[in-house]
Amino acid sequence: MPTCIERHDHTVDEQGFIHYDDRPITYEQADQIAGKRLDRRRNYAVIDGAVHEAAHYTMACSGCYEGHNSDSATGHGCSECGYTGRRRHGFWSPLGDLDAV
Ligand SMILES: [Zn+2]
Repeated sequence: MPTCIERHDHTVDEQGFIHYDDRPITYEQADQIAGKRLDRRRNYAVIDGAVHEAAHYTMACSGCYEGHNSDSATGHGCSECGYTGRRRHGFWSPLGDLDAV
């Protein structure tokens, strides 16, 4: 389910894992920060006062892809990727960047 969050801070614990202090906000709040009405089907995050949208892409699994199939960029499968040969990655992209692609 699409949501909006605002990232306030992050901390690093003793093991070196990053914990983000993400708090839910409403689409109306995100609209105000973005200065326009946002797509209710998408996820947004406010980071450093700027609206970012969730972007996803798939790429060959780093665990098993060794030039196995350069056409499809799919690995031969391993436990890391669930034997699909591909991994799904997500990141936050500044609003507008994806439209330019
Ligand atoms: Zn793999």
